Amino acid sequence: MASEQAAKPVAPEELVDGVKKMNVQEKQPKANKKANKGGNESATPLEFEPKPAYFQSRIDLFEKVKAEHDAALAAKERKPIKVTMPDGAVREGTSWETSPMDIARDISKSLSERIVISKVNGELWDLERPFEGDATLEFFDFESPEGRRVFWHSSAHVLGEAAERHFGCHLCIGPPTDEGFYYEMGMGDSGDRVVRQEDFPSLDKLITMAVKEKQPFERLVLTKEQLLEMFKYNKYKLYIINSKIPDGTSTTVYRCGPMIDLCMGPHVPNTGRIKHLAILKNSASYFLGNQANDSLQRLYGISFPDKKQMVEYKQFLAEAAKRDHRRIGKEQELFMFHDLSPGSCFWLPHGTRIYNTLQEYIKSEYRKRGFQEVITPNMYNSKLWETSGHWANYKDDMFTLSVDKETFALKPMNCPGHCLMFGSRDRSYKELPLRFADFGVIHRNEASGALSGLTRVRRFVQDDAHIFCRTEQIEDEMVKCFDFLQSVYGKFGFTFKMELSTRPEKFLGEIQTWDEAEKRLASALDRVVPGQWELNPGDGAFYGPKIDITISDAMRRQHQCATIQLDFQLPQRFNLEYKTPQGAAEADKHTERPVMIHRAIVGSLERFIAILIENFAGKWPFWLSPRQVLVVPVTGSVYGYAEKVRQKLWDAGFFADADLSDNTLNKKIRNGELAQYNFVFVVGHEEQETESVNVRNRDTDPTVAKGKTETIKLDTVIQQLQKLKETKELSNQLPTL
Ligand SMILES: [Zn+2]
Ligand SMILES: [Zn+2]
Repeated sequence: MASEQAAKPVAPEELVDGVKKMNVQEKQPKANKKANKGGNESATPLEFEPKPAYFQSRIDLFEKVKAEHDAALAAKERKPIKVTMPDGAVREGTSWETSPMDIARDISKSLSERIVISKVNGELWDLERPFEGDATLEFFDFESPEGRRVFWHSSAHVLGEAAERHFGCHLCIGPPTDEGFYYEMGMGDSGDRVVRQEDFPSLDKLITMAVKEKQPFERLVLTKEQLLEMFKYNKYKLYIINSKIPDGTSTTVYRCGPMIDLCMGPHVPNTGRIKHLAILKNSASYFLGNQANDSLQRLYGISFPDKKQMVEYKQFLAEAAKRDHRRIGKEQELFMFHDLSPGSCFWLPHGTRIYNTLQEYIKSEYRKRGFQEVITPNMYNSKLWETSGHWANYKDDMFTLSVDKETFALKPMNCPGHCLMFGSRDRSYKELPLRFADFGVIHRNEASGALSGLTRVRRFVQDDAHIFCRTEQIEDEMVKCFDFLQSVYGKFGFTFKMELSTRPEKFLGEIQTWDEAEKRLASALDRVVPGQWELNPGDGAFYGPKIDITISDAMRRQHQCATIQLDFQLPQRFNLEYKTPQGAAEADKHTERPVMIHRAIVGSLERFIAILIENFAGKWPFWLSPRQVLVVPVTGSVYGYAEKVRQKLWDAGFFADADLSDNTLNKKIRNGELAQYNFVFVVGHEEQETESVNVRNRDTDPTVAKGKTETIKLDTVIQQLQKLKETKELSNQLPTL
């Protein structure tokens, strides 16, 4: 199979990435009124009739070519080979015969059942594909990122098989995602019919059948011509073949049961491995994310090798739905969206309280940490974006407008504006590091279909800063950034991990500059989190190395919020310079270029607040809470006192309300609890006479101490609340003074 190795097959991963980058727009599927009209949904047959001709024509071609390949394989010379395991152990085998699965079975039956995929000579490799010569071998199970990806990728084929059989559809792409997989399809023989929830039981049944049959994933290399022939019925696959596979080359298809798919693989050995698969939802999208293209249907799924994991996942989904920031945002009246400005959040009064408290907190840190706040324009002449390079690379994501016959654009980031400020006059080394912080409003033209709550928006604000410094100052600045990170994330109870991404293949600047910068970043990491950071070789941006920070929330979900990114490019594009000590002393113009550090900690405030809502499930820590105290009078005769208490709390800087409605006492307390007030202060005659309040704590364990309350002097409780607010405690316990 020399020809197979000569023509490097195109990785469908690349195909998928290419398609993913095109911002697939989703729209909600419209209910098919015609089909629903008195129709009995279960009347849809399990399998589409008549069976589309492509099933047989694909198999005919597959079997013909497979016979040729099998003959070629049989003719290969068998030689003894050595397979080296990760621990250095060497196992014997035969070329073109022994497979990784043979070796796994040799080691133990349980290993052979647990592993999902192997890596041969560093390349992911089907477990039953024979070795071609001496090799290194690694195994991966579902718990590894590699194994999980292959498992979910393989599951997408099973879902695709069920969809083809049920709808007679034309499959498009079916990639694994971070949380499962999906398959996208044109409806083919089903015409304009859309996927409905009522189809799920049939699909489930077909999936179960495929799993029971333990269909092997059979790999076969086809030439571009053969691929075009095999998929001639499917315009989406034809588009992918024609646009991504160079003439004269070949790539692989995989067969499982009746389904044959264009795919680079690899896969689990057979469909029987995918024991627990659930279809989660369906949606509609456009081919390549372009509204001008065909409307497609998408099915999302999840799968696990183990039933317990599926049960846990479903519990996780239920919990995530309860915490969904869009839902809590509505319940707590924090924010809203409107069709007249898609993707731009309206912060309602209570949401604005959270927003401002968060921003004030970061501003107070800026004072302590030597950042200077600046305010910069929202729109700039496109000439600025040409200088910064955004016009060439980012234009489609920017909102443009015409001003005085010139093209302007709303800023998608603050950096170029800060470069203008730095370059506005001569700068001396004495001014460095210069730290500009900016809560500027940023606009990015996200596709309308991709907008989702606060996590995908068109207008947002970041806790953005740019540090201009000398190369030798990088390390200290980094240590300060990490300290800032730890301090802020600690306030919210987030743990985080850091990765250093280094020089990629294509890079800008001198290798020595990169090496030195990377050394300084590593050394800064070692100072702050010794032994607890990872290296991501070659994954930096072309303009500088960066540090990726991932936080973990209360549900152990990972989020990337912070950015710490070195930049050698922008200072060059804007020709930024500072006078060196030598230049100052010799009074000649000896200058150097500063390094620029892009730095954000919470990142987009919008997105960060969404993460906070879901992390706290709407139970805000006191200092950040938009509803801190609800005063509830026991009877009408103490309404005056209740209002007095509320006013006193308000004047002391707290968000306090009094419920002076006609509701019963119990109902008022219940409403206060539902609205997640941190404290409910109940007041009656006794409290009025002693200038005190009866305190009910939101977070008291209801099973232990239902109704357990404490009567405290109003002046005392105000001091306690002040302390609780200042210390920014996560726990809702009144501190001792
Ligand atoms: Zn595949
Ligand atoms: Zn920046």
